[in-house]
Amino acid sequence: MSELFPDYRSPWESDDQAMLRKHAADFFRKELTPNVARWAANHEVDRDFWNKAGAAGLLCLDIPETYGGGGGDFGHEAIVQQELAKAQDGGFGFAVHSTIVAHYLNTYATDEQKKRWLPKCASGESVLAIAMTEPGTGSDLQGVRTTAVREGDHYVVNGSKTFISNASHCDLLVIVAKTDPTQGAKGISLLVAETDGLEGFGRGRVLEKIGQHGQDTRELAFTDMRVPVENLLGGVEGQGFYQLMNQLQRERLILGVGGIAVAEAAVTEAISYAKHSASRSSSSRTPSSFSPNARPRCSRARRSWTTASPSRSPEPSIRRPRRWPNSGAPNGRARSSTVACRSSAATATWWSTRSPACTPMRACSVSTGAPARS
Ligand SMILES: Cc1cc2nc3c(=O)[nH]c(=O)nc-3n(C[C@H](O)[C@H](O)[C@H](O)COP(=O)(O)OP(=O)(O)OC[C@H]3O[C@@H](n4cnc5c(N)ncnc54)[C@H](O)[C@@H]3O)c2cc1C
Repeated sequence: MSELFPDYRSPWESDDQAMLRKHAADFFRKELTPNVARWAANHEVDRDFWNKAGAAGLLCLDIPETYGGGGGDFGHEAIVQQELAKAQDGGFGFAVHSTIVAHYLNTYATDEQKKRWLPKCASGESVLAIAMTEPGTGSDLQGVRTTAVREGDHYVVNGSKTFISNASHCDLLVIVAKTDPTQGAKGISLLVAETDGLEGFGRGRVLEKIGQHGQDTRELAFTDMRVPVENLLGGVEGQGFYQLMNQLQRERLILGVGGIAVAEAAVTEAISYAKHSASRSSSSRTPSSFSPNARPRCSRARRSWTTASPSRSPEPSIRRPRRWPNSGAPNGRARSSTVACRSSAATATWWSTRSPACTPMRACSVSTGAPARS
């Protein structure tokens, strides 16, 4: 499946997912790779790239179709993350949006909230972010100081956050706040702020980082910011800490998938560079002598997350993904959602040959149980 492991295919990867891989690779090669340097200089991807990724059916792949998602599983998300690494992505906040925050909404939001928010997340019309970290609170989330005090139909939110991914573009922001500052974990709730025109919502400076230069990671400030009570995630106060502890497992897993994919991409790139250099000079640093340990290390790392116990899978029921790409889709497959995929040879092949059943992504679970943040 990659230049480094041409004959290797993960045991969980179905034919359908293999076609998704090709579709994602084609899309990113065309729409992402040529822009990486420019986005790094701008410290953000183009806003309309989110809409393009949504139109290509690459967002919210394991959100149910009822809410505009792809109806797939964690394996579909992992494949997109792997292809992003291969395409040399340096800032597209796919994982935060699609793999992480969309699942806070899907798991805890009320049906009304899901219908209101999720279809726009799948289409790229809304970009998601989550604001946990504060200048004085990182790993220990019980110590957040941002407050949300109820006044009538609104919470009045005050506080500041830092290191927030997708902060320039986010339309929906999940905020970790204390609705009861007298309590520790039990006083934490998650509020979903709709940021467009929201008074008291301030985007601070974009943070310089050692990598991911195209990622719009920022500080945020909330000053008497009023969030409607109906935007309390799940509608019950005091659930935030438990919601975080459950969802952080998914965050750790996709970060691991991404880390291994980046390592693999880096080795591939290094080999390619060495081959190119060797062809130009008589250097003794030929491909055969370059990084002899890198390939087996990548291979071991990859196997470590694909062979975890199936019985601990976080995906008990796997639905068949049917949303992406829908151009030329057989009857009934064109989605009623806003998705309208651009046609391509890969897309057509994918639809014409997809298998009737989606093989469950069975081997992707890690369980840490530890409260510390990733
Ligand atoms: C690129 C990037 C993107 C990010 N995106 C987001 C985002 O979208 N949303 C968000 O909310 N946050 C985000 N973060 C913040 C990230 O979640 C925090 O950096 C992380 O939670 C750690 O918090 P901290 O940096 O304050 O480190 P600290 O909590 O100060 O920890 C520093 C070190 O001390 C260790 N440590 C801490 N407490 C203990 C203890 N009790 N015992 C032993 N060791 C301990 C930690 O393991 C760590 O190694 C992002 C960070 C980065 C770098």
